[in-house]
Amino acid sequence: MTARIIDGKAVAATVTAKARAAAEAFKAAAGRPPGLAVVLVGEDPASQVYVRNKSREAEAAGFRSEQHNLPATTSEAALLDLVARLNADPGIDGILVQLPLPKAIDASRVLTAIDPAKDVDGFHPVNVGLLAAGSAEKALVPCTPAGAMILVESAIGASLAGKQAVVVGRSNIVGKPVAQLLLQRDATVTIAHSRTADLPAICRTADVLVAAVGRPELIRGDWIKPGAVVIDVGIQRIPAPERGEGKTRLVGDVATAEAAAVASAITPVPGGVGPMTIAMLMANTVTAAHLREGLPRPAFNA
Ligand code: NAD
Repeated sequence: MTARIIDGKAVAATVTAKARAAAEAFKAAAGRPPGLAVVLVGEDPASQVYVRNKSREAEAAGFRSEQHNLPATTSEAALLDLVARLNADPGIDGILVQLPLPKAIDASRVLTAIDPAKDVDGFHPVNVGLLAAGSAEKALVPCTPAGAMILVESAIGASLAGKQAVVVGRSNIVGKPVAQLLLQRDATVTIAHSRTADLPAICRTADVLVAAVGRPELIRGDWIKPGAVVIDVGIQRIPAPERGEGKTRLVGDVATAEAAAVASAITPVPGGVGPMTIAMLMANTVTAAHLREGLPRPAFNA
């Protein structure tokens, strides 16, 4: 079997188009655009790129877009003060504080200070709890897991009843929320992690395999069940001397070429889950706007 390569860029473009249309409809109903505020503390180059892209995408989607750049020396109190002001601003529907924060700031205190109704990253304990309680439809769901699920749905459909799903990785940002979402779709879910015994054998049980580890090409072709759907969330830059001295390339957690010979569908790296994350941020912002104004929640499924 040769797997279908799931085109994350194309699916992300569909989600972005839906977010744009939902923003138009919201503007007509509420008399204002959805508003997103992105907060960056410090000068981490990767974070600067992410934040710029998020703000740019929000503008392109027709949102009110605000970017707050604070120096690395910002105190926790000053950041909490900004969060409080954004919480109180009726025109702001989404607040995203870019992680990682400087060590002197308690990230969990900051994330917990965000109004759960504006928590477009889905990291507030209220949203984590709603998801865990099986009420994803009331929650704001973290962007990468939500995007990964749309890719699963595009490959295999919305119901995962009777399917075995294996999630490799148990982080709060990806592994745990993906597992909750798979469970909500009626999959039988196993969560594997760094202390799991015989990871290859567990992966071989998976009809749906989601890898969120951060170990380049850890998962080999002979770990894949024939016909499985493979979603590779991992993304790492590794040296690529074959491309010339000092060159690098991006790889996922899965040895893609090997796995593609066995799976039925697989996401590439780059161009798989990556593009979905920012698209889901737009979806979450316009969703938060609708919910805050008492309007029906827009749909972004595949
Ligand atoms: P993390 O480091 O917080 O968690 C990694 C998880 O993998 C841990 O739960 C750990 O137990 C598990 N693990 C580590 N080594 C293992 C091993 N040898 N066998 C089995 N499990 C092992 O990472 P994260 O934030 O969940 O991110 C995971 C990957 O996804 C990273 O490559 C990250 O860059 C990527 N990521 C991509 C996006 C995106 O595409 N937009 C977003 C978030 C994360």
